[in-house]
Amino acid sequence: VGGVIDTHTHLNHPRLLRRLDDVLRRAAEAGVGEMIVVGYDLPSSELAVSLARERAGLYAAVGVHPHDAATADDATWAELKDLARSQQVVAIGETGLDFYRDLSPRPAQFDAFRRHLDLAQELGLPVIVHCREAPDEMLETVAAGGGADGRAVWHCFQGSREEARRALSMGLLLGFGGMLTRRGAEELRAVAAEAPGDRILLETDSPYLSPEPGRRQYNEPSNLPAIAACLADLRGVSREEMTAVADANARRLFGLGGGAGD
Ligand SMILES: [Zn+2]
Repeated sequence: VGGVIDTHTHLNHPRLLRRLDDVLRRAAEAGVGEMIVVGYDLPSSELAVSLARERAGLYAAVGVHPHDAATADDATWAELKDLARSQQVVAIGETGLDFYRDLSPRPAQFDAFRRHLDLAQELGLPVIVHCREAPDEMLETVAAGGGADGRAVWHCFQGSREEARRALSMGLLLGFGGMLTRRGAEELRAVAAEAPGDRILLETDSPYLSPEPGRRQYNEPSNLPAIAACLADLRGVSREEMTAVADANARRLFGLGGGAGD
């Protein structure tokens, strides 16, 4: 079995960065050879790029999380734009709207989200979208921004069947992670079981969202195979097939080369 790609991890987060060698060793032992390190503000985006430059199998996404949208000023945007042109960058994000925690005022969230969509279009890169309790506003913003040319993932999808249907009709992919294994996630499991095979991505969102609470105090990419196994069972396919399909989707969306070690 080829390596599995974790399409969304924050190895740039202090909790994982502090023990990066161990985290990467456990990932390799679990067959997770490639990871997209996702930025959530300017410093973490810079870190994502430098990690991808230094370590084989790592790629970078650069962006400002909706939580931090209000902290981004003109200098931030200028630097992010420059950074996004780095060879290691395979996506813009994470960006989007979070009306659940509302840590930045909504107008600032909309403004930041639109800037990310514009930048992605300018550079021909896909977009990694975070969305909580703002599905209509998120989908409308993506549509108004040119639909991201159909190259976007709704990361850590936890919406309804109807929201999934609308996102899929716009060409978005859905990112599934540890939420799938949580109690009470029946509708999410139904969405994951029914989604077209070519629209599925696997992700851990580590260090957040442990697949099985209590397993470790924090999540890490080595948990990805457990998520793949859960999704394979839901869809009635083998783990090998599930992994191969999700990896092909990730390579296509993010323009990655062949597998590490192929
Ligand atoms: Zn994230």
